[in-house]
Amino acid sequence: MKPWILGLTGGIGSGKTAVAQAFIDRGVHTVDADHAARWVVEPGRPALTKIVEHFGAEILQADGTLDRAALRQRIFAVPEERRWLEALLHPLIGQEIASVLAHAESPYAILVSPLLIESGQHRLTQRVLVVDAPEALQIERTMARDSANEEQVRAIVKAQADREERLRHAHDVLSNDRDLAWLDREVERLHTFYLSLRGGQA
Ligand code: ATP
Repeated sequence: MKPWILGLTGGIGSGKTAVAQAFIDRGVHTVDADHAARWVVEPGRPALTKIVEHFGAEILQADGTLDRAALRQRIFAVPEERRWLEALLHPLIGQEIASVLAHAESPYAILVSPLLIESGQHRLTQRVLVVDAPEALQIERTMARDSANEEQVRAIVKAQADREERLRHAHDVLSNDRDLAWLDREVERLHTFYLSLRGGQA
């Protein structure tokens, strides 16, 4: 039987990767939207050709791969350019995700995406799990992980969909405000529940 799809999302530093890993350890197949977003612009893929046609060859690095910093620079503060890029990439990323998920063989599979709601990718899923952590913990954990400063992390938190909007789409919420052992037990509990579902519905 085809697996049903769980969308896993949460703000920066909320613990998506840690939660996804706990599901992977239990044999659940996952795809990461950030990885899919990188695959669609690899050399030889049509999207990269279109990006070069649009922005010029200076958008490439010497080895022919996309210069992400240059691209960010070009769309930063230019809404039309950002929209152009999103219109090109969002459908391709969606197709990429769908084609990976089509090969998943666990009873259910997981799409991990920081922008699950904002990008509309939640439409590829039957159920949404939001990892939620108090903002202070999000910031503290991200700063420790990335050696970023508080101002940078706060700016990213602000740019993401607000917490209420995310939680509005949640079928399940995992509050990641305790230690990693507790997180693992919560994932075990959810995994047992998810295995009991047909098509992601209770
Ligand atoms: P991003 O969106 O930035 O990729 P994320 O949601 O994937 O973040 P993680 O990378 O899983 O978040 O977690 C952020 C950091 O906090 C990591 O270093 C992780 O190991 C740590 N962390 C996550 N949950 C906990 C926890 N319950 N206790 C202690 N540390 C945690």
